[in-house]
Amino acid sequence: MPTDVALADELVATVRGFVQRDVLPVASELEHADAYPDDLVERMKAMGLFGVTIAPEHGGLGLDVGTYARIVEELAAGWMSLTGILNTHFICATLLSRHGTAEQQARLLPRLATGEVRGCLSLSEPDAGSDTRALRCRATPDGDEYVIDGTKMWVTNGERAGLVALAARTPEGITCFMVEKEPGPRAGGISVSRAIHKLGYRGLETVEMAYDGHRVPASAVLGGPDGLGHGLSFILGALELGRVNIAARACGVARAAFEAAIRYAQERQTFGVPIARHQAIQFKLADMATKLEAARLLTRSAADRLDRGERADVEAGMAKLFASETAFELAAESMRIHGGYGYTTELPVERYYRDAPLMIIGEGTNEIQRLVIARGLLERYAL
Ligand SMILES: Cc1cc2nc3c(=O)[nH]c(=O)nc-3n(C[C@H](O)[C@H](O)[C@H](O)COP(=O)(O)OP(=O)(O)OC[C@H]3O[C@@H](n4cnc5c(N)ncnc54)[C@H](O)[C@@H]3O)c2cc1C
Repeated sequence: MPTDVALADELVATVRGFVQRDVLPVASELEHADAYPDDLVERMKAMGLFGVTIAPEHGGLGLDVGTYARIVEELAAGWMSLTGILNTHFICATLLSRHGTAEQQARLLPRLATGEVRGCLSLSEPDAGSDTRALRCRATPDGDEYVIDGTKMWVTNGERAGLVALAARTPEGITCFMVEKEPGPRAGGISVSRAIHKLGYRGLETVEMAYDGHRVPASAVLGGPDGLGHGLSFILGALELGRVNIAARACGVARAAFEAAIRYAQERQTFGVPIARHQAIQFKLADMATKLEAARLLTRSAADRLDRGERADVEAGMAKLFASETAFELAAESMRIHGGYGYTTELPVERYYRDAPLMIIGEGTNEIQRLVIARGLLERYAL
């Protein structure tokens, strides 16, 4: 989708100001307390961030994926958890925009665009993460309804969401349902069966959810009857946007780690000079900045491809793979440069170090990214 460049630049600058003014002063405290950032989310709603890529006719800002990636980088440089609140929301919105019926789009997208209803994605199960075809959650047809039974794992935003993009087995194969529910720990036959305590990425919920005879109307099938059995391919396509989110948030965390390191290296003195004067530290800073720039360019290239309406499995996979490994490496390098102080909870470096590994695992592990990239390349270069 072409974008209004002035509006995009203005919004990115507004988000940067929001992060400086409102996020950085509270991020570490909220994260350590594992407290949901209600106030920050209200401000994100007011800025229109829940509708960034949703089309204007459905109440969104209609900006492109490149702008979304820039916003995600800004937010993650402040506090990565804020980007997780947006990620599965936009996967939901993308599923609806690409595959929803006109009725589903008209009913759901405007409420997603304002943030009144927030979306989540429920693909993974206790025994089906990388191996999505092993998923067991069932949706059994019963007249005009489906009855859903099963356990879903790792549902980020699951409790607070009002809309779940749910992958479940129907007689036709794996189908995606847009399940509307009241936010909260229990809604109809859906309940939060376990809160998952995480190393980092705290302050927003990632939960296990049980479906016990939960009934949804047949109209909840994404794309209507034509969507039956196509859910997995719909979701895997939308995960390309999720991978751009992960790559962009990795750039944000890597940037924060780098900027903290280059500031500290000029302040901290050893042997009578700032440590930035030691060549060993200079080499680290040079490598960090080079990898960060490469990660950002890969992320932009994947976003551009999605904006051109092209398949971006290879590019989104490359961006996610490289940027997440970069964030992981830069968080550790920043900690080394900070010496003992980097290992304390007084500075945010320890948070970057705990947040970074998630990006290696989430949205398809980096082992799976390599498989996706290789498969795409072999198709493109087939003899
Ligand atoms: C904090 C967090 C939030 C999440 N949020 C969501 C969410 O909102 N919605 C959702 O649906 N899911 C979510 N996930 C799930 C996430 O996508 C999965 O954890 C991920 O896909 C990996 O699945 P798994 O954990 O079952 O690992 P497994 O699939 O069991 O993998 C274990 C190891 O084996 C490797 N492996 C597996 N298969 C292969 C193979 N064929 N070749 C080589 N190596 C292989 C993996 O790379 C990994 O190293 C979240 C996960 C986390 C940690």
